[in-house]
This record gives sequence, structure tokens and C-alpha cells, in this order.
Amino acid sequence: MKAFAEQFAEQAERLTHDLRHRELIRTALGKYETVRAQTEARFQDWQAARTAAAETKRAAIQDLDLHLQAFADKLAARGTKVHWASTGTQARDIILGIIREKKARSIIKSKAMTAEEIHLNEALEHEGYEVVESDLGEFIVQLRREPPYHIVFPAMHLTRGEISELFARELKSAPTDNPEELTMIARRVLRKKYITADVGITGANFAIADTGMISITENEGNARLTAALPKVMISLLGIEKILPRLEDLALFLPMLATAGTGQALTCYNSFYGGPRQPGECDGPEEFHVVLLDNHRTRLLADAEQRDALHCIRCGACLNACPVFRNVGGHTYGTTYSGPIGSVITPHLRGLQDWKHLSGASSLCGACTETCPVKIDLHHHLLQNRRNAANEKPAIVERFVYRLFAFVVNRPGCYRLSKKIARAARSFHSLVKGSWLDPARAWTKTRDLPPVAPETFKEWWERRR
Ligand code: SF4
Repeated sequence: MKAFAEQFAEQAERLTHDLRHRELIRTALGKYETVRAQTEARFQDWQAARTAAAETKRAAIQDLDLHLQAFADKLAARGTKVHWASTGTQARDIILGIIREKKARSIIKSKAMTAEEIHLNEALEHEGYEVVESDLGEFIVQLRREPPYHIVFPAMHLTRGEISELFARELKSAPTDNPEELTMIARRVLRKKYITADVGITGANFAIADTGMISITENEGNARLTAALPKVMISLLGIEKILPRLEDLALFLPMLATAGTGQALTCYNSFYGGPRQPGECDGPEEFHVVLLDNHRTRLLADAEQRDALHCIRCGACLNACPVFRNVGGHTYGTTYSGPIGSVITPHLRGLQDWKHLSGASSLCGACTETCPVKIDLHHHLLQNRRNAANEKPAIVERFVYRLFAFVVNRPGCYRLSKKIARAARSFHSLVKGSWLDPARAWTKTRDLPPVAPETFKEWWERRR
């Protein structure tokens, strides 16, 4: 199997030249940018809101252990079973254990990136359970047997025509490119699944410490049905989802909606604090919350990059990133793509295997500028590059930079290097692309810049 870096390079090169793919992404994100700018303008002071959000998350992560305990205690007091999972394997085992104990067969699921992170669907299907994604975008990519393309817009890389063909093939529906009709086709399938499902699995956008509730925000109402109809509800969430107070949502709900989809507020905002209580007419009979670490505490221990745990998974940094916009979400080969994925994946899955993602950035800083919770993303990419080089020195690179420093610090060597560079450039023009060309790997996707015929010093001396 090819190394992750090699797969990334191949896929990136292919998609960068795929103009149709680039146009699709450009069109989808163009609409997002317009509405986001309008909604952002509705905030009295967007920059002040970002600062307040960053400060709230900083305080939440600073006392994460205390907030998590308070959250878990409050939930448990209302009859929720709280489980702590150190690893993805543990989280899968906990969820499988609950499902087996309940003798469940079918499972309905709403969007949860943590479930993607621990490959929950694959584990459940391997055990013979039927798992159906209820978010429309997730439902579409599930039918295509592929992972979500984007953390907020899972099927943004597909056209209506492609979705129509997919539904015709998989659901035997009549072809149509009308979005409402396509939605109704999915709706008819999903409604039956909600009613017959034994277990509903959700993620969570926020975990509120002072009230012991999870908050789920969505646009389709599918998470609400996933939580309300099956007898057993399981919510899987990363430990970093904590917010200290219920009142913090007054900022975070509109902020997530604005940065995520450009809406003032998402359509459905639900709170779950426990199973159905005596006298209540709906809600699950049993409620489980699985709190997932999976190397998040490793990130917590890193004072330099701890703020990556502030992420509210709005996807705005992906939308702003010129690399993401060219290579697309699947190229990363990770659950979390774009700048935030490039920052956290080396922590979650190993620095040496995923250090190439830190290089997939122009360091323009657009991600940092757009992040609603002010995560210093582009500096973290630089830090990951440094950490990877310190952990396993790149000998050739180090030698090249040392040679460069040696040459530019010695005027005689520097003068000689100019002549060599001009001769090498002329040679490259003659043999370009052939096996004789020493720069052929570099020039495969870019041009070798020309060497100026005259340096500034030469020009100055000639003028004098
Ligand atoms: S890093 Fe910031 S912009 Fe990117 S997904 Fe997280 S919160 Fe959104």
C-alpha cells in the first residue's frame, strides 16, 4: 500500500487539473461566502464576538477535567449512562456492547464526525447491523460508500444529476434533477427507518457543563427524529465539546451557524439532558453518552497547540483554504480535512505518517483569519513542520540549507553560484522533462523560475 503522503500527492495533482471539480467547489463555496458575509455583518462586532468565543473556549479547555466531571454528574443524576472512552476501539466496544445488550438490529444515525473518526459504521456493519445515515448529505455519501467530503457539506462535490443517477441506481427512483423531489425520495426511505430503528446514534455540537446537557444543531430535523423515535439513544462526542455555561450558547449557536453555513441560526437546535422522565410523552427510554478522548488529551498536554481543541467544527477554514479549494476533501485521506485536519491529524494519528499535511498550505493565514474561535492554524502548521523535522531530521533538506547559508555568506562563492545557476538554467531549458533534467521532479507541476540576466549589483556597477 502506498504511503499516505504519496497518495495525497497523486490525488492532489489529479484534482488540481480537474477543472470540472474545481468549478463545482468554487460555485458551492461562492454561495456560502456571499451569505456568510451578510450574516456576519448582522453581528454588532464580529471581531469582538470572536475574541469572546476564543476566551470562553480557552477557559473551558483550561479546566476541562472539572467541566467534564460536572457535565457527567448532572447527566448521571437524571438517569443517563455516561461512558468514558480513551481510544476509538474502546468507544466502538462500548457502543457495540449497548447494541448487543438491547438485541437491536437496525440503527439510525445522525451526522457525527466522531463516529467517522472511530469508523463506527464499518464496525457495526461488520457485526451484521444495518446502519442508516439520516442527514441527507451523509445518506448520499453512504449510498456511494465513500466518506464525507467536507465536515459540514458532506456531498458538496456532487451535482444534482449525479445524485439523481445514484438514487435511480440504489433506490430505484425515477430520475429527476429537481432538488425538492430528490429530497422527498430520501425522505420516504428515511421515515420508515426512523420508525423501525431500535437505536439512534447522534453526535453533539456542544456539551454544557453547568446543566449537564448536549446541544445538537442541524438543518433537517433528522437528528431530532433520530433522538426521539428509537427507544435507545447514544451520543458520541469528543471531550473538547465542553462549554462551561448554558448562556454561552447565546454566542456559540449563532456563531457556529454564521461560520458554518452563513445562516443567522440553524433551523433546529435541540438539547438532551437525560432519558424520558416520568410524565414525559416522548424521548428515548435509555440515554447513553460516550465521551471520547482518542488522543485529545495528548493535544491538551501540548501548551503550544492546545487551542486546536477550541474547534467547533464549523468548516470555515476549509472553505477559505486555497489548497482545500483545489484538491478537495477526499484527497486528505483523513476524517478532518483542510487546515484544522492538517493541524490535528498528526496528533490523532501520528506525526511522521501525516506530516505531509503541514506542507499542504501556502501559509497565507486565510484559515486563521476566518476561524470564529481564533485558532492560530497557520502557525500550528509551521510548528508541526518543525516538530516533524526535529523528530526525524530531513538530512538532504538540512544539507541543502546549510550549503545555501555557506554560499550566500561568502561573496566569492555567491558570485560563482550566479554563473553556475545561469548555466544550469540553460541546461534545464535544453533537456526539460527528459531523464537528463535534474529538476524534472520539481518542474512536473511548476515552472523553474528564470535566472535574471543581470543581478542588482551588476546593474548598479554598469550604471555607475
Ligand atoms: S478550526 Fe476554526 S474555522 Fe476551522 S473548523 Fe474549527 S472552528 Fe471552524
